[in-house]
Amino acid sequence: MEPYRIKMVEPIPFPTPAERRQAFVRAGYNAFNLPADVVTIDLLSDSGTGATSSRQDAAAVLSDASYAGRSSWFAFRDAVRDLTGYPHILPVHQGRAAERILFSALLGPGKISISNTHFDTTRFNVAATGATALDLPCPESADMDSAYPFKGNIDLDTLATTLAGPDGPKVAFVLMTVTNNGGGGQPVSMANLRATRDLCHRNQVPLFLDAARFAENAWLVTQREPGYQHRTPKEVASLAFSMSDGCTASLKKDGITAEGAFIGLRDPKLARQCEIQLIGTEGHLTYGGLGGHDLARLAQGLREVVDPRYLRARADHTAHLARLVNDAGVAMVQPPGIHALYLNAARLLPHLPPSQFPGHALACQLYLEGGIRCSEVGSLYLGSIDDNFDLTIPAPFELVRLAIPRRVYTQSHLEYVAGVIAEIAKAPERVPGYRILDADPFLRPFTVVMAPLAV
Ligand SMILES: *Cc1c(COP(=O)(O)O)cnc(C)c1O
Repeated sequence: MEPYRIKMVEPIPFPTPAERRQAFVRAGYNAFNLPADVVTIDLLSDSGTGATSSRQDAAAVLSDASYAGRSSWFAFRDAVRDLTGYPHILPVHQGRAAERILFSALLGPGKISISNTHFDTTRFNVAATGATALDLPCPESADMDSAYPFKGNIDLDTLATTLAGPDGPKVAFVLMTVTNNGGGGQPVSMANLRATRDLCHRNQVPLFLDAARFAENAWLVTQREPGYQHRTPKEVASLAFSMSDGCTASLKKDGITAEGAFIGLRDPKLARQCEIQLIGTEGHLTYGGLGGHDLARLAQGLREVVDPRYLRARADHTAHLARLVNDAGVAMVQPPGIHALYLNAARLLPHLPPSQFPGHALACQLYLEGGIRCSEVGSLYLGSIDDNFDLTIPAPFELVRLAIPRRVYTQSHLEYVAGVIAEIAKAPERVPGYRILDADPFLRPFTVVMAPLAV
């Protein structure tokens, strides 16, 4: 059970089916355009959506917002250092700012960034410097149905040949995303991280973590990797940080706070370069665009997120939804991770070809039938689309991501979600396909305007 009880509540909206339909037409059938007050259960993102604790909010009231040297900064810095061991900690307002600052120091035209999978803002910030983002997910990740426990791993063989090959000197760093968000929220094993570290050392390439879900990765290591059963999640997380040269970390996820992120570094020269960018573009070294209250909440959130009772309850919460969805006969990416479930829309809606965006169709149906907001990860997001908005190259999968905010919804909320999914699964052939009316080529999921096709 959850190691906390509820002290403050917020009513959730219950729009009627007609109100949902109207709102969705106005939103161009794009969930990112829906006002939150017509959403009953919001599973669009686990980022910045967690519920803070009374201790976090108490710390926020006591926080210090002095321009320089604020006490809340020292509390934050010490909490991050205690966890990560990095000597240099740079605060930023969110993860993508950390990416922009670090990458502008290390990347540029002709350079390569290698990752198990670059998250979308990460890929954007790599490309913005003129460099190339190379994803090397492990081969096991391609089979969505297998129970392989560490599908977030990097492909060590291809990494070794790339580093030793003609492109080796162009590789500026390896960036390990834990957990692998772009790859279905799957964890990275400590064995894979250690082998990556060794390869990086041998080739004199730095290894960084994209550590947005460091605690959830650590929890899954204690549950799935031999030799770590008796380690605490904090020990495992600290070990992961100790194997790297630094990190970028959005704390909107495992910081359980609405804002915040940091860059952690060991190299003083690189830290100095980043500090200059930080002051020029984010804020002074002791706030980096964050309020004193954010820093104070984060310092406390970082302690709460590694509590094994919290992590067990969170993992069980997601696993409970996974079981119910499975009982309804709906397939999802296996094994279920922690921050999200990825429903296999292609399998549920075989009457819809990729050109009619089955993932988007299922996400829309969840909203229209149940007021549940979630997002597609399939051909709409990752496919190639021509100037007439026709799909030319489909994505390798058609998924719907149900992201689970931290400490927000109860088991009965998730049972409601499973009930709506089960209802759709009873007669999936009535779910219509969709076509694109308008979209920006770069930020398609956020800008797209869609319309349903006749069934
Ligand atoms: C969310 C996220 C980011 C970007 O962080 P923001 O705080 O949203 O800017 C980067 N990498 C991963 C893996 C993420 O999940």
